[in-house]
Amino acid sequence: MRKDTKGVIFIGDGMGGRPMAELDGTTTLEAQDTPALDRMAREGACGLMDPIAPGIPAGSDTAHMAILGYDPHRYYRGRGPFEAKGVGIDVMPGDVAFRCNFSTVEGRKVVDRRAGRIKEGTDQLTAAIHEQIPTIEDVEIIFEPSVEHRAALVLRGPGLSHEITEVDPHDPGVDYLESRPEEGAEDPEGAAKTARILNEFVRRAHEALDDHPVNEQRREAGEPPANIVLPRGAGTAVDLQPLHERYGLSAAMIVEVDLVRGLGQYLDMDVIHVDGATGGQDTDEIAIARAVVAALESHDFVLANIKCPDLGGHDGDCRAKMEAIAKVDRAVAHLLDNVDFSRTTVMITADHCTPCSVQDHSGDAVPIAFYGRGVRPDDVDSYGERACATGIMGHLRGMEIMDALTNMMGRAEKFGA
Ligand code: ZN
Ligand code: ZN
Repeated sequence: MRKDTKGVIFIGDGMGGRPMAELDGTTTLEAQDTPALDRMAREGACGLMDPIAPGIPAGSDTAHMAILGYDPHRYYRGRGPFEAKGVGIDVMPGDVAFRCNFSTVEGRKVVDRRAGRIKEGTDQLTAAIHEQIPTIEDVEIIFEPSVEHRAALVLRGPGLSHEITEVDPHDPGVDYLESRPEEGAEDPEGAAKTARILNEFVRRAHEALDDHPVNEQRREAGEPPANIVLPRGAGTAVDLQPLHERYGLSAAMIVEVDLVRGLGQYLDMDVIHVDGATGGQDTDEIAIARAVVAALESHDFVLANIKCPDLGGHDGDCRAKMEAIAKVDRAVAHLLDNVDFSRTTVMITADHCTPCSVQDHSGDAVPIAFYGRGVRPDDVDSYGERACATGIMGHLRGMEIMDALTNMMGRAEKFGA
């Protein structure tokens, strides 16, 4: 088996789509001029991929899990643990984790879910929570702030479950909710305990924050006080084998989404920060591509993701999505010019489709192309939904990608004698 070959999975987030009447019946990927992506398809091995399974709209988190070879049906227990890992909490198996907002309430009514996008003072508010709510019953309370109004909460103790209903009503102008065990929970006792502790946490956080000096100042300045913490998206932390152990590949991740970054940290990948990678339309795609080239110097495997195609899809804005796809293409052009393809295999994909006509993720398959070392080229001559459907890789699932890639890298283990 080779030990000196490299692999890259390069993802345009939500880049796949459906035909649009306003684009003469083509998709955004087909309508946009993409010379670099097309070259990879023309000289590479193409196909389609169902991130999870046919017809299942994938979240970015579950899609990335599957593409990295971890079955989300088995391992996904909510996004909370990835969020918590993303803000630096050392999540342990059995923990129940949440993402949270500092919010503004009057009585039980949610006035502002983001507390005026509070920029300063959440450190002091967090300190008050640490001091006043270290534990509830036999459960340790771990709470850390992230950017602006965002934060993460971890409950650590025996007998907890994520099968509980939300506290955050997700809409302003209505009361926040009491968490309860989900109907049909597999562990009703654990769910009852977790809901009770979560409700108590929310009550005591409100007590700790309402009259806090930071909020007195905010009221005086006419800003909404950050006088409660509203958790959402409960998830149970599971034990995931680190990626380098699973595949024997030293691995790096270069992504713009906290949630996926948290997954990378969870899998013990080196999560690389890139200056200029904003996660928006203004992201510096060349800085991201340079970071991939640099990471290949010291790693066997790199997963990279450019977020912006997904944004245009959610907004139903074809033109914005096409501009974002052009960015992905420029990043891929940089890879074509700077990667040693005699020993590197690059796979191009989307993590799911975000069609402008749906304005959300759909369950359609995405086009894929493998380029470089070990590929068997086919007759596909451009990168797109229609063109790639005739390619040699046929129709794969996300869970099969790492096997296909490591085979081309010459690093797949023989099954049998
Ligand atoms: Zn995505
Ligand atoms: Zn999305």
